[in-house]
Amino acid sequence: MSFPRVAERVRRIKPSPSTFAAERANALRREGRSIVSLVVGEPDFDTPAHIRQAASRAMEVGATRYTALAGTFELRQAIVAKLERENGLVYVPDEIIVTNGAKSAIYSALAATLEPGDEVIIPAPYWVSYPDMVLACDGLPVPVACPENQGFKLTSAGLDAAITKRTRWLILNSPSNPTGATYSAAEYRALAEVLARHPSVLVMTDDIYEHIRFEGGTAPHLLSAAPELRDRTLAINGVSKTYAMTGWRIGWVAGPRDLVRALDTFLSQSAGNSCSISQAAAAAALTQDQGFVAESVAIYRERRDATAAGINAIPGLSCRMPEGAFYLFVNCGGLIGRATPDGRRLETDGDVVLYLLDSVGVAVVAGSAYGLSPYFRLSIATSHEILADGVARIARAVADLA
Ligand code: PMP
Repeated sequence: MSFPRVAERVRRIKPSPSTFAAERANALRREGRSIVSLVVGEPDFDTPAHIRQAASRAMEVGATRYTALAGTFELRQAIVAKLERENGLVYVPDEIIVTNGAKSAIYSALAATLEPGDEVIIPAPYWVSYPDMVLACDGLPVPVACPENQGFKLTSAGLDAAITKRTRWLILNSPSNPTGATYSAAEYRALAEVLARHPSVLVMTDDIYEHIRFEGGTAPHLLSAAPELRDRTLAINGVSKTYAMTGWRIGWVAGPRDLVRALDTFLSQSAGNSCSISQAAAAAALTQDQGFVAESVAIYRERRDATAAGINAIPGLSCRMPEGAFYLFVNCGGLIGRATPDGRRLETDGDVVLYLLDSVGVAVVAGSAYGLSPYFRLSIATSHEILADGVARIARAVADLA
């Protein structure tokens, strides 16, 4: 099929596989099937009341107009204070740009810096959007396999081997979607030593899950381990995951002035400022009571423990304990080659995912979408009851395999 009115730029990317899986699960549900969807990557909690109230107040006092393109001074100051308090990083408001979610920050950064053919190193498994964003910006994604026996993390040797003269960016995401893998300060230092030999490589840290961490508090930051990288690093974050604010669409980027200014120029002619009301809510989230963060992480931890134990008790499946984020990345290598009750052989993780959906109505996302097989990603951002039902159904489906 040809799409004469659609740009090549769009034809080379694909819609998000997790959105696709979620829509498929919803379609089956509409057909009357009982579906347990463990697909979506967003907190199942409501945004805390004091944050919602800050938004209402903002509307009432007339914060309903364009804001400064880079975001309100109040929010950028709140971000500066957060970076110092939580990460020990020192920035000024001029080094911050507020964006329409972290997703827009990452895309704008790539759009503002990539020349056609520039390479972007993406440790795999990765968040599904990175490679497609790079492609949409005419760059070349360079996935680097980070297998389970490496804790799903990039090593200095892996980084060294992937860097070429065309490398523009390294994207790091810790804790990671989909594995929860979290870099230690020592691991960051090892990567920084390689980067020291390649001064033209820029680094993007996607810190969106920094607080969803099960031991040891906020995840270490690359820039506290390797402050010498500050002038070539963009630190990307947002309120979506930490404060259950996915719908409010507030993210940000902190970085050196030249890069931040390039983003500002790009955004000034593309997106404009982020929602004024959401910015007021985000400022309240960052400056007021932080109790919600620890409370929600405690709940995620219980779900992780129970769900991982359930999965690890199923013969043929295993998962390592994620240190953070809210996903299990389940190794389904033990099911490959087995046969379904109607005689189909499971050849790939995509086959396993389809079998789970068809046979027991459990929706998860295949590891191939994240660049590492044979795995599937299971989201624990849902209730204990739904997770227990999902695990029981997966166990039944596996028991039925020949
Ligand atoms: N980075 C990662 C790793 C994510 O998982 C997500 C959300 N799925 C985002 C960024 C985007 O977050 P936001 O809602 O702020 O756009």
